[in-house]
Amino acid sequence: MVLGGGIAGVFTAYFLRELGFDVVGVGGDVAYPLTSLVLTLSMPYGEDVELAKESLEIYRKFVQPREVTSVDIFPRWVTLPKLEVPHEVTDSVEGLRLGPDEVAVLTRDYLIPVRKVVNRLRRELGFASSYGFLKVEDGKAYVVAEGRRIAGDVVVLAAGYNNRALAEKAGLRLPLQPYECYAVAYAAWGKGWRYSVGDHVLGWYGRPIAPFMYVAGDGCGRYGQGPPANYVEKMTNLLRQRIGAALPLGLRVGYCEVGPHGGPVYGKHPDVDNLYVIGGLDGYGSMVGPSLAKRLADLIAGREEFDEFKVERYMAHMDFDPCAVSERHDWGSVILRKA
Ligand SMILES: Cc1cc2nc3c(=O)[nH]c(=O)nc-3n(C[C@H](O)[C@H](O)[C@H](O)COP(=O)(O)OP(=O)(O)OC[C@H]3O[C@@H](n4cnc5c(N)ncnc54)[C@H](O)[C@@H]3O)c2cc1C
Repeated sequence: MVLGGGIAGVFTAYFLRELGFDVVGVGGDVAYPLTSLVLTLSMPYGEDVELAKESLEIYRKFVQPREVTSVDIFPRWVTLPKLEVPHEVTDSVEGLRLGPDEVAVLTRDYLIPVRKVVNRLRRELGFASSYGFLKVEDGKAYVVAEGRRIAGDVVVLAAGYNNRALAEKAGLRLPLQPYECYAVAYAAWGKGWRYSVGDHVLGWYGRPIAPFMYVAGDGCGRYGQGPPANYVEKMTNLLRQRIGAALPLGLRVGYCEVGPHGGPVYGKHPDVDNLYVIGGLDGYGSMVGPSLAKRLADLIAGREEFDEFKVERYMAHMDFDPCAVSERHDWGSVILRKA
């Protein structure tokens, strides 16, 4: 029984089915944009890069990801990241304004049409689009959805930003916190808009989403609070400084979730024998989601165990500020904070 039908839920269901399980999915709505999410291999931690490489191969069974040049911009004084993928360090990038105290690291990113993949898997696996509740009785987890009790030998909680609230309603603790993130879509033209950018000096990231269209965003907001006043103006000014004029088309508010270490958790819940969880995919769920889901399915099937990110490791860290943790996938928050 899988509760939640985003990247984490559908890929866990997919790999469980490959291992011979019968899977029932209750998935809620699909919240992904029509455009692609970006998968980068330019990340600070080797284990995340390995997971992202594996996820990329998993997506290739379903779609052909589009490649784009990735540009990470750093202050010159910072010790540059050690990258395990081919890269080039440069002082100038055609179409981007770099100051004398800045350098750029060029790699390759991949645009993944996640909505298309998730919708296809939901269809093939027979996910319902309803919302359910997690319940625990006599030490066993089950789900209530559409007025029915759905019991499984195994219950997987994979409801993204809603994981913690669902667990708390069932009387359980989870070391995860939801937060908000925002993205602005732009009509844009010119050379600088073809890059997937992580600007660790001005503090924003962005990517091309369609011909003449770009999307950009930054950081973290409190869950339920909504974007700060003048968010679109602020983002537009940052882009203008770095690339040039762009016309804002709209603002999107989305919900994410993170663990106390700035990354994901997965594994068996320590207090309930048949309950497993996968969440905290933060701003990089397209990168680590499918491969971590594969590891969860392997764990449930009693196969090989992957030791990173096990949920029990973090149970002592429940109360943290999701906007104060260093996001694992973000060079800016990891190396600038260290510096
Ligand atoms: C604006 C924005 C831009 C982003 N850009 C990127 C990017 O470029 N690259 C990247 O890798 N990541 C990106 N992310 C992050 C990425 O979207 C998340 O990491 C990822 O979606 C997390 O996957 P998930 O399956 O854990 O949760 P979610 O995607 O949140 O999916 C959870 C699912 O569970 C369902 N659900 C919730 N409650 C219930 C319930 N009670 N019963 C049943 N179902 C329920 C929801 O409807 C949803 O379908 C972005 C996020 C936002 C908001």
